[in-house]
Formats: sequence, C-alpha cells, structure tokens
Amino acid sequence: MPAFEKYLEDSADVCDVCLAPLNDPENIQTEESNGVVLTFCSQQCREEFLKEPEKYLDEEETLE
Ligand SMILES: [Zn+2]
Repeated sequence: MPAFEKYLEDSADVCDVCLAPLNDPENIQTEESNGVVLTFCSQQCREEFLKEPEKYLDEEETLE
C-alpha cells in the first residue's frame, strides 16, 4: 500500500485533537473544515478543535 494511503488509514483511527485511538465508536465525532474531515474521540475534543481549528488544520498542511 502506498505510504500516503497508509497515512490516511492510520490517521482515520486516531483522534485529530488528542491522538487517542478511536476505540469507542459511540463517542466518535466528526467535523468537516475546508474539505478535510476531522475525527474526534469525544465531544470534548471536537469542542477543543472548534476553539482553535487553524491549530489542527495547519498541522495537516505541513504533511507534504
Ligand atoms: Zn480526542
């Protein structure tokens, strides 16, 4: 599998805020921003993202 696909698969399995594994599907939250779908382990992490979305989106953009 290409490295980029591997990255996407890995990143889909962790919270974009706290990087915890998404092992509790009932609590998973998602938020779309600028065409990027972010995944969170809880409502708390989603709120954390909504407070400073650019902080987490910038991190995505630096991955080239
Ligand atoms: Zn989290």
